[in-house]
Amino acid sequence: MNQKQRVANDAEEGFNKCNLCLIGTGKILRSFAVRNEQHLYLCECMNCGCEFLFPQPSDDWLASEYSGDYQKRQSSIQRPKKAWFKALLNQLNVDFSKRSLLEIGSGEGDLVAAINEKWCQAEITAIEANEECLPDYKRLKCNLITKSVETWLAYQTKECFDVIFLFDLLEHLRKPKQNLDQLVSRHLNTGGMVVATFPNVDSLSRKLLNVFWPQYKVEHLFYFSQSSVQWLARELNLETIELSALTKTLPLDYLYAIGSRFGPQSVQNCCRWSHQRLPQGIKQIALPLRLGEWLWVAQKRESLSKGISDETSN
Ligand SMILES: [Zn+2]
Ligand SMILES: [Zn+2]
Repeated sequence: MNQKQRVANDAEEGFNKCNLCLIGTGKILRSFAVRNEQHLYLCECMNCGCEFLFPQPSDDWLASEYSGDYQKRQSSIQRPKKAWFKALLNQLNVDFSKRSLLEIGSGEGDLVAAINEKWCQAEITAIEANEECLPDYKRLKCNLITKSVETWLAYQTKECFDVIFLFDLLEHLRKPKQNLDQLVSRHLNTGGMVVATFPNVDSLSRKLLNVFWPQYKVEHLFYFSQSSVQWLARELNLETIELSALTKTLPLDYLYAIGSRFGPQSVQNCCRWSHQRLPQGIKQIALPLRLGEWLWVAQKRESLSKGISDETSN
């Protein structure tokens, strides 16, 4: 039996369980990617409504997708992310000055830089597994931990925070619900906030672009629907304060730089082609764009009598 038949068999017998809700099985939507005879399929969970990859790509495959990402981002023409984070922090309208903050997957430190500039008193811990990013933190004020979130969680540190930032992280985790559960139950103070962004499978860009949607990539193991976020919030005792289509104001030049290096090959080619033909003046224009992501802001409720941490500590 080849792998394709095996996956079809597994799906028929309900083995393609959703790794987000752990309850629903997935309806296979289409073949997603193939590498070294490993086939990935895109499934839609019949319980929580998210889309997910089944089976999940091997560690090798993921490593090859991630390798070079840092270099590719570094060579992007501009680094407008710090400005974008500042705008987002303003929009959230929260005074972070005396809060303890945690960012997971902090990349090149653009959010840390924005926080340092806006609230120099705020204490921020940044977790980033990619050691290539280390030099970016030389001039930043933060407690940098170079570990993956899974490794950091396994250390069972007792530290608690007022705000946990998860930008472009949850969709990359193999077990997003368990990891988020541990984060919220052990490391977020009651009344504390989670601020997260992740792919929005209900978005207009997803509907229009379909298989060419740039969020569809092997590193993204999950694509969240509104119902899957609501489900997650209920499960984790979080109250959703905001769940909205994320708007990013970015210069066209930057979008072309990203678009021509990441995502489906056809989109990369299209970006390169039009980038060479547009006048420089137009490429400097900054546009408010919806790139198919959610912005989710949620607050931790008082714990229920049956604590979540008790359920997940084993
Ligand atoms: Zn599910
Ligand atoms: Zn991502």
